[in-house]
Amino acid sequence: MTFHDLGLSPHLLRAIDELGYTTPTPIQQAAIPAILAKRDVLGGAQTGTGKTAGFALPMLHNLLTNHGRGQRQVRALILTPTRELAAQVGAHVDSYAKHLPLRVLTVYGGVIIKPDIEALKKGIDVLIATPGRLLDLLTQQALTLQKLEVLVLDEADRMLDMGFIRDIRRIMNTLPSERQTLLFSATFNDEIKTLAGELLINPELIEVDPANTTAEKVRQRIIQVDRERKRELLSALIQREQWQQALIFARTRHIADRLARQLAQDGLDTQAIHGEKSQGVRNQALEQFRKGELRVLVATDVAARGLDIDQLEHVVNFELPQSPEDYIHRVGRTGRAGRGGQAVSLVCREEAAQLKALETFIGESLPTEVVEGFAPSGRPTRQTLPGSKPVQNPPKKKKAAAPAGGKPAQNPPKKKKAEGQEVGMLPVRRQPRALLQDDDDE
Ligand code: AMP
Repeated sequence: MTFHDLGLSPHLLRAIDELGYTTPTPIQQAAIPAILAKRDVLGGAQTGTGKTAGFALPMLHNLLTNHGRGQRQVRALILTPTRELAAQVGAHVDSYAKHLPLRVLTVYGGVIIKPDIEALKKGIDVLIATPGRLLDLLTQQALTLQKLEVLVLDEADRMLDMGFIRDIRRIMNTLPSERQTLLFSATFNDEIKTLAGELLINPELIEVDPANTTAEKVRQRIIQVDRERKRELLSALIQREQWQQALIFARTRHIADRLARQLAQDGLDTQAIHGEKSQGVRNQALEQFRKGELRVLVATDVAARGLDIDQLEHVVNFELPQSPEDYIHRVGRTGRAGRGGQAVSLVCREEAAQLKALETFIGESLPTEVVEGFAPSGRPTRQTLPGSKPVQNPPKKKKAAAPAGGKPAQNPPKKKKAEGQEVGMLPVRRQPRALLQDDDDE
């Protein structure tokens, strides 16, 4: 299948050609026809699957071909949990809409609001926003959503995790009830299912078979090491294995800052981003990282969420996240759009229980390894191979949770891998939340 087969406007096809997209990804093949047909959609997909184009292309096509309820009065709204994701989605939508007579605006907090108000005055067709900034703008009567035709909730699970449910409900109260609603989420717990039940009418359920997702190409490595030697090991890995670039997740702002300082002392070009840094500083570091001018970026979970950085080969969990869902989101930062990647987790003895919980959640045992010169002191917590070997007693496999609408998730946990097959690939998504949320910022 090609994009031409999907019936999209030639102006959109031109933009896609210019971006070098040739074949629609699985989620695009499923979502584009449903959205063109004006169906509500409940999409199970993580970042890295091409979901942004999956919803944005048909949405733009419909805006172009519909006459529209209002002239330049926000006809489509895309809500995202974080500023970084808003900026990234906004940049994608801008590039898709490049040859269309539609105005696109991205708004998020942490920067002055006046330019947003000025831009809205001129008239905007497509608005990408974080919930907080959108509410500020609504309160200041800088826009109305009464003419809205399409609402997209992107990374809805993240929005709920970040406590945006009240904001979302307040925003919903300002929208016309007759509209198309698209909700995307990487995981589905009861809260998401309830929200989906409230917002979507007879939605088309779209799930990506993990065997086809780009995240599937991610190789997962669990490296056992003593806690106090993690920094030294990380520095050695980056240098010995000649990593071009790495995104490191750290649990707190303090750890992120300290680690960035220490890696810089080791001669690695490193910066840290987290909620205490100004938006300007965060954007600048991201931009440098994107351009390949910065080798290592250390980020807290929230600051790094939804990042789309091309050809990112290495994502490192300096500590395992407390929530297995966050693990899946983090791992989704690499192996994007057909490229392979490695997700490396540095796990110390104290994290054994978290590792076990993660394996139970994903329904697969992850092979562990030790790196020469960095073997943990004392008795090993589990068997390892020079390369890597699965644990002896793999955790029981869980049944995947069903998304709202009743249809069970179609992605059973993976079967044990055959001899010689690559181990540690990213397995299923969408399981109930098992543990607490990361205690990070924002
Ligand atoms: P997303 O999951 O929407 O964050 O997209 C992940 C990455 O894949 C982005 O860098 C997109 O530009 C890229 N992408 C999306 N669709 C395609 C496609 N059909 N072919 C190649 N790259 C794509």
